[in-house]
Amino acid sequence: MLKLTNIETYYGQIQALKGIHLEVEEGKIVTLLGANGAGKSTTMRTIAGLIKPKRGTVEFLGQNVTGMRPHQLLRKGISLVPEGRAILSTMTVLENLEMGAYHRKDHDVKKDIQNVMKRFPILEERQSQLAGTLSGGQQQMLAIARALLAKPKLLLLDEPSMGLAPLIVAEIFNIIKEIKEDGTTVLLVEQNAKQALKIADYGYVMETGKIIIEGPADDLLKDERIVEAYLGKK
Ligand code: ATP
Repeated sequence: MLKLTNIETYYGQIQALKGIHLEVEEGKIVTLLGANGAGKSTTMRTIAGLIKPKRGTVEFLGQNVTGMRPHQLLRKGISLVPEGRAILSTMTVLENLEMGAYHRKDHDVKKDIQNVMKRFPILEERQSQLAGTLSGGQQQMLAIARALLAKPKLLLLDEPSMGLAPLIVAEIFNIIKEIKEDGTTVLLVEQNAKQALKIADYGYVMETGKIIIEGPADDLLKDERIVEAYLGKK
């Protein structure tokens, strides 16, 4: 579904991505792991069209989409939930959800908002409340719900568990599993390596702008290099 070939992305003179190869198969959860500053967010931003790579290609559904703008990629089915959520805090929960579907031309938006609220009952309860007054976990749910209203084929989640309490993190991971079961493909950036690998089908590990390890998630959970660096000793 998604294929990155030899992607090099720069911030000015600083090379953040040094030749990334990465593939996401349709219907799977793929996780991208690595320490702070490894280039995970830059990879997501490159896929979503927020930064143009200097070299390499991004293919989506067999089409070369390198250099396309974020709104074009959104229309093609790529939706990003950025790190830090970026919800509109002075708008209500319902208005935030409506924003998620703003580019859609079909007439199912109302029904889809109702469906999304079934999955996130707390958002239904709080629909008239300003989004900025929600807890961190609720804001993350709102950010994911809003992205789902774009009806993405590929959902990019950048550290959805960041700063959340363990119980809420577990809830978020369950939601990600359900999103996959509903047929949406997921690329998940996480610090929380163990939990991410438990729900993922395949994983990549980045270090200083490169992929250093990749493999089926079950294998990575047992890989000594990963256990030592990211999962902690048992
Ligand atoms: P984190 O989990 O901390 O977000 P990350 O793996 O997502 O880490 P990136 O945010 O992609 O890493 O950063 C990759 C590299 O690019 C880092 O060296 C970082 O300092 C640099 N970088 C990121 N954003 C910018 C920017 N806007 N301007 C200049 N350099 C940047």
